[in-house]
Amino acid sequence: MNPDVLAELNARIASCTACALHQGRTQTVPGDGDPNAEVLFIGEAPGFHEDQQGSPFVGQAGRVLDQLLLEIGLTRADVFVANVIKCRPPNNRDPLPEEIATCEPFLTMQISGIRPKLIVTLGRFALQYFLPGTSISRSRGKVIRSDPYLLYPLYHPAAALRQSRLFQVLRDDFQRIPQIVAGAERPDVRATASAAAVQKEDSATQLQLL
Ligand code: SF4
Repeated sequence: MNPDVLAELNARIASCTACALHQGRTQTVPGDGDPNAEVLFIGEAPGFHEDQQGSPFVGQAGRVLDQLLLEIGLTRADVFVANVIKCRPPNNRDPLPEEIATCEPFLTMQISGIRPKLIVTLGRFALQYFLPGTSISRSRGKVIRSDPYLLYPLYHPAAALRQSRLFQVLRDDFQRIPQIVAGAERPDVRATASAAAVQKEDSATQLQLL
């Protein structure tokens, strides 16, 4: 993604008042990192520290993320890190379905602009954004094609902080990321978009013929 386009998108997010979450935020947390990253990490929503600083994963969970990235030879500057929604829900409650739906275009624009080889979802919530109803315990550590993207669901670093058993699972799953990325290609978003447009046109034609 062109950095100017990313800056413009961030400015749009910063001035967004489309859902009630804007009322309680200190600032928006659009996400940051390399706008042309091969790996895009997606968490749930900003927490207290993220809301204060305007960056994703800056608390204890962020330190776990940094450590695990370092162990595979990466830093935040090499990847892009974002959340499903861009403003902190009050008392860190789960975002509501209508808040997710309202905020969705921003994440969609980030994903289609970055065109990552791999989307790593962190935690149940981000996984279910892409694959509703999917169990994280059954799908974590599996590479899942969700056209045109490749998903790699992992536990949330905060869960690994709460349960040391999960930390090793998360660390092992992280270790596989370089190998998965090496065998992956950037998705052809335009081809998928035009295929979707053709499908839409076909459906419209079929409707007209009925
Ligand atoms: Fe806008 Fe998303 Fe923040 Fe809601 S959560 S105000 S849709 S940026």
